[in-house]
Amino acid sequence: MSIRRLPENLVNRIAAGEVVERPASAMKELVENAIDAGATRIHIRLSGGGIDAIMVEDDGCGIARDEIALAFERHATSKLPDAAIEAVTTLGFRGEALPSIASVAQLTFESRTAAGDGWAVHIDNGRMGATQPVAMTAGTRVSVAALFEKIPARRKFLRSPRAEYAACLDAARRLAMARGDIGFILEQDGRVIFNLPVGQDRLHRVAALTDRALADNSVAIDVARGAMRLSGVAGLPTFHRGMADHQYLFVNGRPVKDKLLSGAVRGAYADMLSRDRHAVVALFLDLPGEEVDVNVHPAKAEVRFRDPQFVRGLIVGGLRAALDAGGNRAAQPASAAAMALWQVEGEQGDAPYMGNAQPSFAPSNGQSNGYFAAPQRRFDQFAALAPLAGKALGAPPSEDARPIDAPLGIARGQVGATYIIAEAADGLILVDQHAAHERLVLERLRRDVAGSGVAAQQLLLGDVVEMEEVACDRLEDAAADLANFGLEIERFGPAAMLVRATPAPLGHVDCARLLRDIADDLAAHDAPLSLPERIEHVAATFACHHSVRAGRVLNAAEMNALLREMEATPHSGQCNHGRPTWVKLDFADIEKLFARR
Ligand code: ADP
Ligand code: MG
Repeated sequence: MSIRRLPENLVNRIAAGEVVERPASAMKELVENAIDAGATRIHIRLSGGGIDAIMVEDDGCGIARDEIALAFERHATSKLPDAAIEAVTTLGFRGEALPSIASVAQLTFESRTAAGDGWAVHIDNGRMGATQPVAMTAGTRVSVAALFEKIPARRKFLRSPRAEYAACLDAARRLAMARGDIGFILEQDGRVIFNLPVGQDRLHRVAALTDRALADNSVAIDVARGAMRLSGVAGLPTFHRGMADHQYLFVNGRPVKDKLLSGAVRGAYADMLSRDRHAVVALFLDLPGEEVDVNVHPAKAEVRFRDPQFVRGLIVGGLRAALDAGGNRAAQPASAAAMALWQVEGEQGDAPYMGNAQPSFAPSNGQSNGYFAAPQRRFDQFAALAPLAGKALGAPPSEDARPIDAPLGIARGQVGATYIIAEAADGLILVDQHAAHERLVLERLRRDVAGSGVAAQQLLLGDVVEMEEVACDRLEDAAADLANFGLEIERFGPAAMLVRATPAPLGHVDCARLLRDIADDLAAHDAPLSLPERIEHVAATFACHHSVRAGRVLNAAEMNALLREMEATPHSGQCNHGRPTWVKLDFADIEKLFARR
């Protein structure tokens, strides 16, 4: 047996296994090359989700005739600086993509520099044809067809055109989001999916690629710490999604999908979103090259940071600060669906007037992801609350004479012992008193913890709570943190905890329930959370315990106090689970309901 070098074409095919997993990865490499070539406009055309063909056309620098063959040689690149590899600022530098793709497809490469003529070359599964002249403007056009046709083992792993298209779209979105300065067109089977102008500002580029409504439901981020900078757009907590598919993260302009980063985003929103909801964010982290290795894997978008904790801290801190500055806004206004609901109720006219209208705009307090409850729940709620309704409606009008300048208005009454109705200068405001109060308690606890700590209420005898051993272990580990909240506990045998003191602001506490909730919370987040995050979780659990329940009748002074505190409190626009705490109906909308407009 003798040792031989692998033939060049086989080497390329092996590399293709890494670099070109599927159409989306080939497309990504081609678009990155176009970006590296200094393009200002990039046009991507897919057919059959990229399985049948991918074409990427740019107006970049192009390459000269005598360099075309070199571009298809393995490890040939124009991008490696003489200095250290960390200094690479281009997206590519390995010189692998073109030869890899060309080894597993029919590839046509056409290019023209500003000074030269256009030249084209065709490569059929690794076999390069002759270079031929072609008429074209300056730039480069790469067409890839019949990907993996000669490699059935790979072709077999491609999914449906629809699924491959989805992957291409995701990759194209990320690349386009990173570069608002470049114009992008994406076409699939002749249909224009997006057409983004050159030089779009970040907010509008992100909104165009995710959800146009994001523009009105987000805050801008721009913070720097040391040599690192975090900028971007963060959706308000009320503007959430069922999937994390609208979280876009970039490191030094490169799209990445990284657990550390997505974990930090989750941490930042932790107490504002329920666990099955996800924020919409586009975050751009810029840091010196030596602080990060973005080349962990050629095709995978992972990165490695020299100081991961620092990066995490910057993201959590930066997002929180931006959301704080975003204040107490909730996603506004009430949805069109809710407006429709009012109208339908009115037309049916099957119940007395107030009882009919009141529950129909009840924010859902269950798992529903909309802001408004399903009809069955509305009636259930109404049935449960009906006995109180008359009394609640009788709540005295308050401070009638005062001009209404407060954003959340003056309380005019309470309905269903659950919702506060307030009049603002320009509309009607409904507040979910439980959700709002829960939020206020959380923010108060946060303030106390950050300050001198939460006061503890000593229990005369101590309260023994029996629990599973693992739960006790978790609580014991967290005991020092919990003491900051005025909750003093210690281990009491293998399967019980002794509660010595409870947080004073919570008043009377059901110790067993509180400990169980905290233990559950700790279990749900068994990934080691940073101290501030643990504090957040505990505070949220406490707040939930203490809040004014739906069903408690409030007097005018209490209601107005709640409104004023909401106005003064950060994040009061959403409860600790990301649902809005208040909604507003503009007078203009009310007029529409009554067909006055
Ligand atoms: P890399 O991007 O890592 O350098 P590639 O195999 O993707 O490797 O590309 C090889 C070379 O071909 C690049 O370094 C560049 O010089 C040239 N090239 C590829 N695509 C383009 C393009 N769209 N415009 C101009 N030059 C290109
Ligand atoms: Mg490349």
